[in-house]
Amino acid sequence: MADPVIEMNDGAVAIAGRPILRHIDLAVAAGEFVALMGANGSGKSTLVRALTGLRPLATGSLRLFGTALDDFHDWQRVGFVPQRGGAASGVPASVWEVVASGRLTRRKLLRPLRRADRAAIDDALEVVGLAHRARDGVSTLSGGQQQRVLIARALAGEPELFFLDEPTAGVDLPNQQVLADTLATLSGRGATIVLVAHELGPMAPLIDRAVVMRDGRVAYDGPPLASDQVATAHLDLHDAGHHHHPEPERHDHAPHIASLIEGGPE
Ligand code: ADP
Ligand code: MG
Repeated sequence: MADPVIEMNDGAVAIAGRPILRHIDLAVAAGEFVALMGANGSGKSTLVRALTGLRPLATGSLRLFGTALDDFHDWQRVGFVPQRGGAASGVPASVWEVVASGRLTRRKLLRPLRRADRAAIDDALEVVGLAHRARDGVSTLSGGQQQRVLIARALAGEPELFFLDEPTAGVDLPNQQVLADTLATLSGRGATIVLVAHELGPMAPLIDRAVVMRDGRVAYDGPPLASDQVATAHLDLHDAGHHHHPEPERHDHAPHIASLIEGGPE
């Protein structure tokens, strides 16, 4: 893969001494749209935090845009919409203010917002369909609309690499569709996207590749999967001597998955 945007080699994360992620190898090329899937607790959010430098690696290495994490400072190139439960809850900010906060990394220190900043903020609100709610308090919006505010905030920074952690959880279908349209636009501009999702819903046609986490490891990495294939997806590559997953297999989908892997790009 020439010049991956993300390159993690043998990454491991431990929290309070407990190993959470182990032996993560992940390379994502510029412009790829990756769905990060897997059961609750499998390590998706931890992996996203590690990839955004928010969780240190215990071992292994991470490069972003070809630069080792320690030397990487171009954080304005990276957007991150965290899993819900934090940002918008109970904060009496207006929609515009929250989105404007996503522009901060682009600003020169202590300078007022310039015309380009205001245009980017208005653009982001337009893209997620909330321009008409700009002056309203975030708390007056529905859950799905609040999620779109967080997405607009990340968009306002005009990221080239965009992480979204379960942006569709608990979001109704019309809001999911707006999000899918937004991500299609961003992807069309060449952005690299890593989307954590259980159900892909309207995002499904956008996905280039699925990465499935299980017990803190990458269990599958290949062509997109339907949600009923995720639980049984497995890597059979390079793994012959390891046998880390002696799971009670449900064999209903296994042959199909195996054929997908054999036809895969890697
Ligand atoms: P997912 O996003 O796939 O649901 P997480 O990455 O949130 O999974 O969690 C993976 C594992 O790490 C879980 O067992 C979870 O309990 C543990 N974990 C995640 N964050 C913390 C934390 N801050 N403190 C302790 N354990 C954590
Ligand atoms: Mg999570």
